[in-house]
Amino acid sequence: MALLSVSEAMARILATARLTPIETVALANSWGRILAKPIVARRDQPPFVASAMDGYAVQHEDLAQLPARLQVVGVSAAGRGFKGTLKAGNAIRILTGAPLPRGADTVVIQENTEVENDIVVVLESPSQGRNIRAQGLDFERGAELVYPATRLGARDIGLAASANAALIRVRKKPLVAVFSTGDELVMPGSPPQADQITSSNGPALCAFVRSCGAEVLDLGIIRDDLRATMAAIKKAKRADILITTGGASVGDHDYVQEALKKSGVKIYFWKIAMRPGKPFMFGTQARLRVLGLPGNPVAALVCAQLFLKPLIEKMLGLELPVQPLLARLTLDLPANDQRQDYLRASLHHAADGARSVTPFPKQDSSMQRVMRDAGCLVIRPPFAPEVKAGDLVEILLFPEGA
Ligand code: AMP
Ligand code: MG
Repeated sequence: MALLSVSEAMARILATARLTPIETVALANSWGRILAKPIVARRDQPPFVASAMDGYAVQHEDLAQLPARLQVVGVSAAGRGFKGTLKAGNAIRILTGAPLPRGADTVVIQENTEVENDIVVVLESPSQGRNIRAQGLDFERGAELVYPATRLGARDIGLAASANAALIRVRKKPLVAVFSTGDELVMPGSPPQADQITSSNGPALCAFVRSCGAEVLDLGIIRDDLRATMAAIKKAKRADILITTGGASVGDHDYVQEALKKSGVKIYFWKIAMRPGKPFMFGTQARLRVLGLPGNPVAALVCAQLFLKPLIEKMLGLELPVQPLLARLTLDLPANDQRQDYLRASLHHAADGARSVTPFPKQDSSMQRVMRDAGCLVIRPPFAPEVKAGDLVEILLFPEGA
């Protein structure tokens, strides 16, 4: 099979994406979820004409001559509005957020008054209608306030709450099964033998999946064994996506591809013209999408960022194009071969906002410390010519939470 380009691989994966079903969640649990149906205002906000200040509700006509002496005949407080009607020559003590009493048309702020027993002396007159919020000033009943495909944040939730929307229709989180293959792997925390290492892919990918807004089905470590791998694939069939790591090449102990095929998964491709991450497999079986990621931890995470994240997002109704940024190189880079390269690099922001990047000298795809210390990935397209210090190159930032 010929090596597939990154963009072709991405297009083929995304073409298989299906929206997840819609579910209802309580507003309090909706943070970070992707809205599936618009949030519609159930009432006007404010629902009544309200005072914007602490002061006195009056009839503006009564302020023709200053100072004006008005009889205070009641109080309108937030949550306890004045029930009667304001008559000429009278005033109602009013507080911020309280309904404007019938008959009143203006609020005088208390700073411009003096009080003598039950008389308020108005010293300065505002224009008619001042210090009042019209009914529906913020929004009116029936208005669409938050649109589908919004990732709900604090401001969306505040707005929904003020519209009295307590139940929110969101996309169900895709369930992503994760297992790591390798006889050399033990879980972090358990004592490895001399020839073993701790599995970092499982924990890293489970975290990555959550950061994309999906749910994890953690299937742990699977031995390099056909039956064990097939058993794990079977457990993953209730998921929407399965991601595996390791065993994806054609080494003596690489069983993932064979196990997938024997489990009925149709393999679309298993090699990509990229570095890190050449052995990357994609297949489907009914509603399950399978991403066979490389074992090397850096390659696994780069592939997850490039392919898994957009797949999850599309299933959630989001279409966020991957937008590379530009940055200035601080050193020369040689011409590239046929594989699209993603170089781990440190990223520097100058005071004027200009970005510069310095690829790390060591780019081995097993080096997680370099990956962690990187501020971005420098993209080197296939057959890109040599570039010099000072040239602009495209970079990819790591997603939030990655
Ligand atoms: P493989 O694709 O299985 O040949 O693995 C490639 C390299 O990645 C090997 O050096 C493995 O030891 C390493 N590797 C595979 N899986 C993991 C994992 N879960 N955590 C850390 N390293 C891994
Ligand atoms: Mg292996």
